[in-house]
Amino acid sequence: MAVKIKKGDRVAVIAGKDLGAEGQVLQVIPAKRRVLVEGINQVTRHEKIRMGRRGNQEGGISHREAAIDISNVALVCPNDGPSRVGFRIEEATGAKVRVCKKCGTEL
Ligand SMILES: [Zn+2]
Repeated sequence: MAVKIKKGDRVAVIAGKDLGAEGQVLQVIPAKRRVLVEGINQVTRHEKIRMGRRGNQEGGISHREAAIDISNVALVCPNDGPSRVGFRIEEATGAKVRVCKKCGTEL
């Protein structure tokens, strides 16, 4: 199965604790079938506070995104919101284009 989601896509979460949230894809990890989405599945890390090389403090509490399963997100169509994605072959060029299955808009 082809990976339908690309870096930079706007996606919505359709399952899990961030259900309904939307964000931009920061990274796709095809081997693990996971995606990293801006602002989604934030995890808090507690790091030991230490002195950095330039004398500034490093560590403490930080927030960062953790990757989520690619099947838990859907591409957002400007017309329909989260949608299923299909592919269409452009007759003129033979290029494969990604389209919304509901309205046919190129995504
Ligand atoms: Zn659509």
